Amino acid sequence: MKMADRIKKGYKLYVEDNVIIEHYEDDHAIFKVKKDENDYYTVSMIYGYWNCDCADYQYRNQHNPGSFYCKHLQAAQFKLFDYMKELDD
Ligand SMILES: [Zn+2]
Repeated sequence: MKMADRIKKGYKLYVEDNVIIEHYEDDHAIFKVKKDENDYYTVSMIYGYWNCDCADYQYRNQHNPGSFYCKHLQAAQFKLFDYMKELDD
């Protein structure tokens, strides 16, 4: 899958309301991204380091740390931008 496809898929997850912010503070955020009816992937951001517990991210990050964003992580970032805008209002 191309990176652009992951961004599009992440955007789709976000616009279809599959992302929730479970916890947010400036240096620590936790997101839940819907996997199916009763399961979620967990995306976290700690001091600027992002992580997702899906197999795609775990595998690639292990081989080439920091080089890869899965669609869940993309989705979480869209949600975060949205949240930032709300904080500004
Ligand atoms: Zn993921």
